[in-house]
Amino acid sequence: MEMFNIMSAENGSAGRVRLFLKYFNTRRQNSHTGKLFKMRTPEAHEITIGELMDRYTVILFDAYGVLVHAHGAMPGAATLVAALNRQRKSYYVLTNDAARLPQTAVDFYRSCGLEIEVDRVITAGSLLRPFFRSRELVGCSCFVLGPRDSYRYVEQAGGTIVGTADRDFDILVLADERGFPFLDTIDEVITALYRMIDKGRDPLLLLPNPDDVYPKGGASFGIAAGSVAVMIESALQRRYGHSDNRSFICLGKPHTPIFEEAVLRSGSRDMIMIGDQIETDIAGAVRFGIESAWLPSGVNHRRTLYLTSSVQPTYVLSSIAIT
Ligand SMILES: [Mg+2]
Repeated sequence: MEMFNIMSAENGSAGRVRLFLKYFNTRRQNSHTGKLFKMRTPEAHEITIGELMDRYTVILFDAYGVLVHAHGAMPGAATLVAALNRQRKSYYVLTNDAARLPQTAVDFYRSCGLEIEVDRVITAGSLLRPFFRSRELVGCSCFVLGPRDSYRYVEQAGGTIVGTADRDFDILVLADERGFPFLDTIDEVITALYRMIDKGRDPLLLLPNPDDVYPKGGASFGIAAGSVAVMIESALQRRYGHSDNRSFICLGKPHTPIFEEAVLRSGSRDMIMIGDQIETDIAGAVRFGIESAWLPSGVNHRRTLYLTSSVQPTYVLSSIAIT
């Protein structure tokens, strides 16, 4: 679209060629240096957590990279959660986690010094239950990728667990990238999908947690379930070509079901989403029509703001520490 606008601004084929080359040279330079994008000024302005607490009825927090990392609390999180509890502020944790039940998540938060009630935790895994009901999937056979809590989520949703991919199943639930021998299990799943689709049976593909990368704490990062979904979709496309029917249905951020659940629980849409990932937290808020604050602590580097032209947070938050 940007290229079309540049080209249509000047008449004549020579001008069009010149502008076309200018566009691509700029793009190429840009990929190495980011110079063009640095000329853009992000619209988001800096804000403090205290101002957000004053301005909004409900505060939605992403968990990893905002309140916690894999090994403990983020700086300022314990004091903030204590203040929210003391003020009886309405707040919820929206996490794409489908590997821990809400109670397991709460136990982990508590071990990090964060006292968060279980009803305040909305996990992507817990969205399976309303999804199964609304799509009349209760009783369907499910092959689950994930640890023990992922199986519990599927059971609570009304799915019947199939223990081996040697047997056909109705739904593949890709809940997490951990909890199983990775390569052997993925190979089994791809083999099973090929076998079933070749017979004309297309299992539903479900991805509660669409995250592709997550911060593991310190300077470490790891792949998440969304990356595994890309691998499986790629294997299906290689054999059958592209089909939306063979893409995963996503429930967590940036998709709207997790935000709808927050509105249901809080009774208000006057909410702000605080997150560290542009593609999930911020894009999800934008898609749902609420405002957002980006904490540049996780996978996204500050420069991502300049590169991601279509998604901008309302605010940038330097820290969640109350000053
Ligand atoms: Mg995060």
